[in-house]
Amino acid sequence: MSSVAQTKKFFPRRDWGEVLAQSLRSSDELLAALELQSADFPNGLSLAKQFPLLVPRPFVERMTKGDPHDPLLLQVLPLAAEDQLHRGFTADPLGEQSANVATGVIHKYHGRVLLLAASGCAVNCRYCFRRHFPYNENRLNHAQWQSALDYIAQDTSISEVILSGGDPLMLQDERLADLVDSIANIAHVQRLRVHSRLPVVIAERLTDQLTDILTRTRLRSSLVLHVNHPRELTPLHAERLAKMRQAGVTLLNQTVLLKGVNDNLEVLIELSEQLFNHHLLPYYLHVLDRVQGAQHFDVSSRAAYALYQQMLTRLPGYLVPKLVREEAGQPHKTPLHVF
Ligand code: SF4
Repeated sequence: MSSVAQTKKFFPRRDWGEVLAQSLRSSDELLAALELQSADFPNGLSLAKQFPLLVPRPFVERMTKGDPHDPLLLQVLPLAAEDQLHRGFTADPLGEQSANVATGVIHKYHGRVLLLAASGCAVNCRYCFRRHFPYNENRLNHAQWQSALDYIAQDTSISEVILSGGDPLMLQDERLADLVDSIANIAHVQRLRVHSRLPVVIAERLTDQLTDILTRTRLRSSLVLHVNHPRELTPLHAERLAKMRQAGVTLLNQTVLLKGVNDNLEVLIELSEQLFNHHLLPYYLHVLDRVQGAQHFDVSSRAAYALYQQMLTRLPGYLVPKLVREEAGQPHKTPLHVF
């Protein structure tokens, strides 16, 4: 059977919006789908409501039924550990609110600016460093979109616009196309970068229209996916990403190092190899941003660096992502070294 036929067999074609609308929204629903019970989590489930569970069904289909330690499940299930406060874990670990220079615009680094193109996500990742970000104050109306674009237009040092969120691919393709056209009208902007986890959880988001939007513009476009575990990738990703790469989109990946999910040499090696098989180059391996509610995912710098050094001995250089930490107020991401 050809790989395309296999893809059709295991991943029937669906519209990404319809898939998104059928997402699971409660721990009870998710545990029932996986034939688990709350008693399988001896430390309990979270009682907090401000960052609710949200997970699309295709991502649930990649989890192992009956396994409370499943690495995909742990990324989306709110555990009681989230409700505990820990010293050094704060609501705004990267100081983004001070870099929030205009509504919907974060300007941290020279030459690059972040546009918060959409306030929602397709999946609520429990480790998210923006889980406390005031999206409601950064939801752009028409006039504010213009102000955000004016901010970029008046600063000729900006050569790259990064679409972020929330998740920028929550925008419908028409709206995204308008936004890309508006950015391309600013002469000093040369590059467009889209950061997204949506296509990881719903591969159908990698539409032909999205490829058109990213390739017909004069901007050089890259798409950075956020894959954390090799089991997140499917044959449908391989098929759609191959088309995008052939069309000229640069495809990269960044991963967050997460305790209990991927803090394991064999998993990280398999992840790099699977990323390459799915047309993605490993770009960054981030240590966790110390956001309140995510401390149970923290891997020490020493352990992270030891894993990184072992990866160097096992993989070709182009499959070893840069190990970095993001630090508030620094002019770039900080390469991690432990001596
Ligand atoms: S998709 Fe990204 S922004 Fe959204 S919750 Fe997950 S990590 Fe956070």
